[in-house]
Amino acid sequence: MSGLTILLRIAAIIFVVEGMIMLALSRFAQLSPQVTTAIDVLMLVLISSPFIFVLVIKPYVAARTQEINNAREIAERANRTKDEFLAHMSHELRTPLNAVIGFAQLLQYNPGEPLSPAQIDYTNSIIYSGKHLLEIINGMLDLAAIEADRVHISMEDIDARVLFEECISLMRPAAEARKIKLSNLASNGLNPQLHTDVVRLKQALINLLSNAIKYNVVGGAVTLDAKLMGDGYFRISVIDTGKGIAREYYNNIFEPFDRLGVESTRSIEGTGIGLTVTKKLVEKMKGRIGFESQEGAGSTFWVEIPLAMEQKQLLWNEDLSVGVEAIDSDHKILIELLNKVSDPVLSHTEVSEVLTELLNYTVGHFKREEAVMAACGYPNLAEHMKIHHLLAAKATLLAEEWSESEKPEVVEQLLDFLRAWLVKHIMEEDKAIGRYIRGHEREVDGALQNIEKTA
Ligand code: ADP
Repeated sequence: MSGLTILLRIAAIIFVVEGMIMLALSRFAQLSPQVTTAIDVLMLVLISSPFIFVLVIKPYVAARTQEINNAREIAERANRTKDEFLAHMSHELRTPLNAVIGFAQLLQYNPGEPLSPAQIDYTNSIIYSGKHLLEIINGMLDLAAIEADRVHISMEDIDARVLFEECISLMRPAAEARKIKLSNLASNGLNPQLHTDVVRLKQALINLLSNAIKYNVVGGAVTLDAKLMGDGYFRISVIDTGKGIAREYYNNIFEPFDRLGVESTRSIEGTGIGLTVTKKLVEKMKGRIGFESQEGAGSTFWVEIPLAMEQKQLLWNEDLSVGVEAIDSDHKILIELLNKVSDPVLSHTEVSEVLTELLNYTVGHFKREEAVMAACGYPNLAEHMKIHHLLAAKATLLAEEWSESEKPEVVEQLLDFLRAWLVKHIMEEDKAIGRYIRGHEREVDGALQNIEKTA
């Protein structure tokens, strides 16, 4: 059926409807001329509307859609051309620029023709400005490559500690130059395997560390720290004691070329691209990035990287020691049970058995730990007991959910939760007990023996 036939049919139906309405109304009342005119106008609008739609609105919408499609195509083509131009130009610029820097350095280090002090100053300026320009070009090249999806990400399982140590030793000279104390707490406690692109993660961490040094105060501190998150991610934090970031800049932190006002002081060199590139790289590696800052006190920039798929194992290490043999041995057993239950070859029944053993052991461990705390006069006993109670309740809830649903993702959630709290609990809460035990060793031993007798 053609469009015109449809229109004529609609018009005919509307005519018939109008006739019937008029007939119906005139049966009950004498229609005034105004009412008849109003009905006529209404019908005229109704009859003409399909024609208006087909003859005016439809062609207009089609023309606008075509225009939008054309504009989108032009924009996409322009974007592709821009990316190609940037990549090409960056390469063309880098080659001569490297030559400028290289020859300026040759001038300075040629013992046969020593330079005058003024000439040394000039060549220093050439080298300094050349390097800055090179940094901008490299940043643009990185950004263009990421946006054009030309960055190859090669994911593998890596040893996080080796990476941390490499990053720290690379950044040590820059930190020393500004008398900044650079510490690595990230290697303490646990040694997880991460699933990531090691070269790109290193680039991201180096960028965060160099910002933490650059935007710090002379004599400040930069700390690399890490912790397990509850959801299969590992958070690596770079903490500084710099000037922090004003709240008004929070939304612009990861925007390209935005230096958040520091450009006006001209005191700290930079391009405003580093964090943009870092964020894009981290997200390409299925990671997450964020920051917290306090003006005048410092900032913490963090990245969260997925743990290796099959390698969510915790490793005991002396840094986890609380200083009481019974408690340390409990923690070792808990880690072993956790690793055992994470073994992908276990059957459903075996997972249930180990999980029950793990939860029972946790409850026994809490009792022992509370007895030790009471015996050595630990002041935060009540609060610590509350934490134990909450942890046990949440773990039991997840375990029940698992036994009801038998969904593998619930057991994964439970294990991620247990891994995260176990390490956090040992490192942050249990370690505080160690200090109170000295001088109370006999009372602690007695309390532990009592528990064994009543068990
Ligand atoms: P660049 O350092 O080259 O300017 P970045 O993209 O790495 O570029 O950082 C963008 C801006 O964010 C910086 O110019 C600075 O103002 C701010 N910034 C980044 N890291 C920190 C930090 N650790 N402390 C304070 N400000 C920071």
